[in-house]
Order: sequence, then structure tokens, then C-alpha cells
Amino acid sequence: MKINTAIHQLMKNDFLRKSVRNVTGNLRNGRLDNIALNPDYEQLRTQGQEIRTRTIEQLDVHLRELVKNFKANGVKVIFAKDAAEVVDQVLHIAKEHDAKSVAKSKSMVSEEVHLNHHLKEHGIEVFETDLGEFIIQLADEPPSHIVMPSLHKSREEIQQLFRDHHNYDLTTDSDELVAFARKILRESFMRADIGITGCNFAVAESGTVVILTNEGNGRFVTTLPRVQISIMGMERIVPTLEELDPLLTLLTTGANGQRSTMYINMINGPKLSEENDGVEDVYVIIVDNGRSKLLGTKFQEALNCIRCGACLNVCPVFSQVGGHAYESPYSGPIGAVISPLILGMEQHGELSYASSLCGACDEACPVKIPLHHFLLDIRELDVQSGKHGRIEALAFRIWAATFSSFGMYKSSQKAAYWGVKLLAMGKDNLSMRLPGLKNWTNTRNFPLFSRRTFLQQYKQSKKTEQKPKPGVKANSDSVRGENL
Ligand code: SF4
Repeated sequence: MKINTAIHQLMKNDFLRKSVRNVTGNLRNGRLDNIALNPDYEQLRTQGQEIRTRTIEQLDVHLRELVKNFKANGVKVIFAKDAAEVVDQVLHIAKEHDAKSVAKSKSMVSEEVHLNHHLKEHGIEVFETDLGEFIIQLADEPPSHIVMPSLHKSREEIQQLFRDHHNYDLTTDSDELVAFARKILRESFMRADIGITGCNFAVAESGTVVILTNEGNGRFVTTLPRVQISIMGMERIVPTLEELDPLLTLLTTGANGQRSTMYINMINGPKLSEENDGVEDVYVIIVDNGRSKLLGTKFQEALNCIRCGACLNVCPVFSQVGGHAYESPYSGPIGAVISPLILGMEQHGELSYASSLCGACDEACPVKIPLHHFLLDIRELDVQSGKHGRIEALAFRIWAATFSSFGMYKSSQKAAYWGVKLLAMGKDNLSMRLPGLKNWTNTRNFPLFSRRTFLQQYKQSKKTEQKPKPGVKANSDSVRGENL
């Protein structure tokens, strides 16, 4: 089991686990603090859900309008049906413009198609310019979180990475580290022939690519190089500028509680003939890569995601191990939903079990995606694929039959009580490793079951409550007297 291997490694990394817990806790608190200041937040969520659902329901219509307006603005539009086509198209553009160097702002779709790896293979240098992405690029790691890609790195690790790759000789002071990264990144903007960005939203009515950053790197990437390529998932559309407004608030509130990001770039196309500065050629690559498979299915709503990361920050599973355990560019509850659905059940189906099904993700999602219901549905698909074996299937059939009959359920409670008591041999807990619960009982003793069921205890407590206390008559006049 591949996922388990990754988890075992990560569980041993105490710093990483503490850091993931701290950062997700801060992001979660920031979101809650902002929501507390906005009495209309629930209304806004409903509005966001309605806009996203309506847009995805008419995705073909909005895509047509978007492409028409992109073209009217002078943007070259390319459709890519899968990861290979995205890579081919980017390489083709790079060749056409004789590009040797690329500066990128954060793009999850480019992670999805492993773009950096392919560009490097073709001799094109790539500079990630989001600070978090810059750090993990030096570490040769994928992002650990949609919004905070390097949340698992300590300042000491970052100092070492800067030393190894850029001869950094200063301290672990955050200001010094950031100032150093800034200097390196400034040089990369100047060197780049092509700027590659993601796309938070694409506005259909105006043909506008919208990019949100807190560091301003998106502005450099979309203004200094000669050529710009924006890579967008086909679902990133919003029909009008008016409808963009609530989605921007929901995205930044969901991400970390900010009312707005520092920089909102809205790009309509290349520079006009009368303008001196600006990008000469703008390309937009609209990517399917499995997304259209969800249209018209019960999973269609998963395309409503605005990639804010709120569900990651509240997830008790994500906060234990971080994003690398998911072995997919998309982690946390949304990653456990879309990775199997768009990137493949075979490779990622197991992720649907990386959830306690507590429902915290549904509550946090600013566009109300029913994530934990989807996780259950994906588990069902995973079971239907037949890879779980006959013994597991038999165990669950017995479990279902037992829990469907009150008589059998009661008998199983008695059997469990006596079975564990016998195995405990007079002790008040079971310290042996139990088959099927090996990982759990490795580090914990299994407690004895209570002889009396919850129902029996509840009934008994009710009887005790009703029993009159000695010296006090039921229906007592003294009580009645007090009331008068
Ligand atoms: S599923 Fe919802 S909470 Fe999670 S990233 Fe997407 S929009 Fe944000």
C-alpha cells in the first residue's frame, strides 16, 4: 500500500507534524475570526454555492463565451484534453518563442501535469516565484498544501536549502531569509522569456484571467517576460465580473481569513499597439484532464471548488500528516475527492479512506461542497472495483447482517464482552496485539467492554431519577406549596 508507506515516514517527522498542526490552526482561526465579523457570511456562502453550481451546469455555454472574449482581446486560446497535451503545448510555445527560461507564479494545474519536470527535461530553466513554491522547488518536493506549499519547512531547513543552492551565508532570521529570496527572485523575473501563471478565475463576459497573490510575484510574472501563458482548469469560470466579487471574498476568507488578497491581477490580453510596455503574446491553456468526466454525474459539484484550502485546515487527518501523505497535488478532503475522480481511482481511490467522516470539511467549505458524502460515494466505487478481496467483503456482510437485526446486535454485544474478558484473563484491559487492529493495539491496551449496554445504563439512570428521595413524598404538597 503506497499511501501507508508515505504516512509511516511522515508520522516519524515530529517537526513536520507540529508545524502542520500550528499552521492549519492559525489559518483556521483566521477564517473563523473573519467570519465572526461578517454577519452575512452564511448568505454569502449560499450565494457562492449558487453561482458555482449554475456556472458548472452551463459550463459549455460559459466556455464558448469566454473563448470568444479571450480571442476578441487578442489572447490565443488552446484546449488541452490531458496532461500530455498541456506539456506539449507549453513546449511548443517555448520553442516558437525560442524561450530558455520560465518564471512561474503558483499554479496547481501545472503541478497536476508535472510541468516543471518536463520543462527541465527539455533544457528550459524554471523559477518558481511564489516564496513557498520557491522553497519546495529547491527541496525538490511537491506542495504540501494548496495555499501554503511549504508549511512543513523549518527556518533551519530553509536556511540550509538557500545555502546549498544559492550560497546563503546569513542567519535563520525570517526577514533575512525573505530578503534573500526576494533578491534571487527579482533576478529570475528579469531573465525569464516566458511567464507561466495559474488562474484563480476566468471571467467569461470580459475574457479576463484573474490571479490572486499576496507577494506580488503574479504581477512580475505577467508583465516582465515577453510571453505569458495562463493554465486554467476548465471549471475555473465565473460568468460575470459582478459574480466574481463574492467569490473573491469567499476564496480569501476560506484560505486564511483575509478580507482580500494583497494583489488581484486582472489580465485581458497582450499589450496594445499604442502601448510601450507589456507582454507581447498571451496564451491561455484550458485544461480538461479528467474534469469533464464529472459533468452530469453525482460528483459534478466537486467542480465547484475554488481551491481555498479551508477544508484542509479543519481536517483532523490532514493536520496529523500534511499534504505529502496524499501523494497527489491535491490533498486534504478535496484532494481525497478529486484525485480519484479526475486523476484515477486506481492510483488514488485509497484516499477516500483518509477521512474520519466528521463533516468538518463540509461545514468549512465556502461553496458548500458535500465533501464527506462524496468520500463515502468514492469508497463505494472503490469497493465495486473488486480490489478488496473476499475476506473483507465477508467481514462487512456479517457486520451488516448483525447490525441490521436487533436480536443479533444484542447477542454480538454479549459475545464481545465475554470474548474480550476471557482474553484479558482477569485484567481490566487487553494488552495483546489484536488481529486486524495491529496498528492500533501496538501502542494501546484494548479496554474491556462494559457488561451493561448504554441502553441498560440509560434506563437505569432514568429509574433512579424518577425514584422519590427518602423523606420526600411523590406529588408532594410541599413542592406544590413552594410553587404557590
Ligand atoms: S472543497 Fe471547498 S473548502 Fe475545500 S478547497 Fe475547495 S472550496 Fe475550499
